[in-house]
Amino acid sequence: MADAVFRITDLRKSFGPTQVLGGVSLELHAGEVTVLMGANGAGKSTLVRIVSGVYDRDGGTITLDGKDFAPASPAEAIRAGVVTVHQNINDGVVVALDVATNLTLDRLNGAGAKFLYNPRRVRRQAREVAARMGLDVDLDAEIGKLSLADRQMVAIARAMAHEPKVLILDEPTSSLSSAEANRLFSVVDRLRERGVAILYISHRMSDIRRLADRIVSLRDGRITGLFDVKPLDYEGAVNAMLGQKINLSQVAVKDADRTVFSVENLSLAGHARPFSLKLGDGEVVAITGLVGVGKTALAETLFGLRRPLGGSMQMRGRSYAPRSTADAIAAGVFLVAKDRAENGIVKDFNVYENMSLPFLDRISRFGVSRRRAERATARASIAELGIVCRTERDDMATLSGGNQQKTMVARWMSQPANLFILDEPFQGVDIAARRDIATKLRASAAGRATLIFVTEIDEALETADRILVMSEHTIVGEHRNAEVDIDRLLAEIAGQPVRGAA
Ligand code: ADP
Ligand code: MG
Repeated sequence: MADAVFRITDLRKSFGPTQVLGGVSLELHAGEVTVLMGANGAGKSTLVRIVSGVYDRDGGTITLDGKDFAPASPAEAIRAGVVTVHQNINDGVVVALDVATNLTLDRLNGAGAKFLYNPRRVRRQAREVAARMGLDVDLDAEIGKLSLADRQMVAIARAMAHEPKVLILDEPTSSLSSAEANRLFSVVDRLRERGVAILYISHRMSDIRRLADRIVSLRDGRITGLFDVKPLDYEGAVNAMLGQKINLSQVAVKDADRTVFSVENLSLAGHARPFSLKLGDGEVVAITGLVGVGKTALAETLFGLRRPLGGSMQMRGRSYAPRSTADAIAAGVFLVAKDRAENGIVKDFNVYENMSLPFLDRISRFGVSRRRAERATARASIAELGIVCRTERDDMATLSGGNQQKTMVARWMSQPANLFILDEPFQGVDIAARRDIATKLRASAAGRATLIFVTEIDEALETADRILVMSEHTIVGEHRNAEVDIDRLLAEIAGQPVRGAA
């Protein structure tokens, strides 16, 4: 067993009344990759920010090589040998400078370096750093012009120029393609061989399988599992991350009537196995799976935002091949997009206008009386979904996150749909709003097929008649919500070969 180079004991942190880390203990070993797994909001980035000297801790101890480690600033952490590549990539590079300068920035900043600035030497050192990392980018390029992946590589290379003992990577692949991720993995392999203790934060199973020597699971600011026996128990790690206290459904499960919508041999990515599925009238189907397994790719394919690589789709017996969102909307396919701040709400518009936005042409065509009817519909939605606002003319920006989300749901429910899709509808929504939305979805389900994409299993169990599991851009499991086999569900999410299957 390798040495514990870095040891965190009973680390605690609160923001105001909210406890984010409730006594976290964890060790890192030289020459090993420890993966820290946790759902969104578990506290991973907060842990990283404390360790890297960005935030103060409220309590707990950290030691590096047995000595107390309490960096007062990020620069101090780096000097001590603890280097971090933060989740927000631009924290690691200076966008206005070129690659060579970024790679040597910390040396330039170091003691005595100020009066020795020498462009030729900067370039030579940058070349050395780049070569050691197998980094292949134009040293003269301005960082702002590089792809995210290249920026990330520069940030890592810059970090590695310090010869660190501990390297922390916070969700480094979240915006990388799979080829780019592979490049990153070989860099991580190289550093592991050189004896660096690595903390790799991710909830992507493919990364974890590729890299992990040990896995630590974090849920709600507490360590819920440590897995270090080979072969690693990925299923147990996912279970620990998502929580064993999953309540089995209280949903009154309905079985589907006739099929409204189906896909056949749909292919979402080059390496992915094609899949087929059928969605019935009145049915609410949840698709679950970890971040990055293709849920959003499928949602966007259904909504005409991207073309499938192969296969076909059928709506009520007719071929459905949308080339745009307008095609999708015309076919009665509506999407409540993930990340409503970027994709959904218009802050300058009021609640009513936000609700009727995609249908404005239909409404204005019918003139004033129609508009009045639409305002009445908006008032009814406000009442039904329990949207907290004074009137339908309130500015969108004055509503809370949960109420903005309800407005987005109301927008797409104000017209009859054939297929109603919601991508992470419960993200950033409080429990009461989540229940209101789920109840309304189920109550209004007749006459259409409803599809929700959720990462959290609980949300699927609380809302759906049927649960499908996605992994590696394909459907790998199916459960009727009345008889969910939680062990099998978790195994499928973890991408584990299912026992008993071929
Ligand atoms: P993760 O990286 O696991 O997704 P984070 O550490 O970013 O989680 O966040 C954990 C929780 O702490 C979240 O509920 C988040 O809203 C809260 N949080 C993080 N940073 C701050 C901050 N600076 N002020 C207040 N709350 C914060
Ligand atoms: Mg984070």
